[in-house]
Amino acid sequence: MKNWRIFKIVFLTTSRLPNERPLTAQMAPVQLSFFSGQRNRVRAVAAMLTLSPVVFHLTRPGQVPPVAHVVGPAVVRQYDEGYYRLRLDSLRAAFGYRKHFPPAFELPALLALSHYPELRNERIRFQTVPKAMPLVASRPDPGNLFRGRPEWVYNIFISEEAPETLRHDLLKKFSFNAQVGILGHELAHTRHYQDKSAWQMLVTGVRYLLSDAYRARFELDTDRDAIAHGLGWQVHAYALHYRRNPRLSRPEIAAIDRYYLPPAAVLAHMRQLSAKKL
Ligand SMILES: [Zn+2]
Repeated sequence: MKNWRIFKIVFLTTSRLPNERPLTAQMAPVQLSFFSGQRNRVRAVAAMLTLSPVVFHLTRPGQVPPVAHVVGPAVVRQYDEGYYRLRLDSLRAAFGYRKHFPPAFELPALLALSHYPELRNERIRFQTVPKAMPLVASRPDPGNLFRGRPEWVYNIFISEEAPETLRHDLLKKFSFNAQVGILGHELAHTRHYQDKSAWQMLVTGVRYLLSDAYRARFELDTDRDAIAHGLGWQVHAYALHYRRNPRLSRPEIAAIDRYYLPPAAVLAHMRQLSAKKL
């Protein structure tokens, strides 16, 4: 039973945001506790490998629907909450299929989804929880082990509470535009899982757990993927917010850059993408 719990945590925790990354042991002891011990890592990998035959049986190759070529919606500089609130019904009709939202974040989630037409048929549950660490996290549902691939569920957890030093980073503290960016980053993770075989997801989970360099590259690529889906300004907005946490020291802010694109790099990547389109 213990191995199962570890498997769930490890295999399903491949999505992290700046607030998710423990910057110091003092800041986030809960986050560090799992990843700190070599023994825990070995046990986690062993548990994952033990369960892998079940996963492979239930997620045979060829069951993953083909992903449409991404032609993202127009880039929007600033999503205005009031403007889009009036269009909530049509957004629901267009992007709400097989989705579940908490009322507080339905609108930014729908706008983020509008940038991922390839996720239209996926079952995605956005849900607030009292305490989650990371504060916002994408995790395939544990019940997927017993579902066929088309019925897979992807959870996106949104924490309602945080340790004092990280309260600045709760989703509700971000601007509306930045909320769209954060949820867009999470959906880039979902998009990443979507066309991966169970084997590839297992390998990703193991590498994410064991290799700091891999984890950094994985998260940086996720930011780039969200930008490629037309969310550059929204990623820029949340990147700025994370670096303005008054409770973090300068070195702690600098440490975020290793895992998530700094605002200047977001703009540079946007320029690079738009130059390619010309
Ligand atoms: Zn992430």
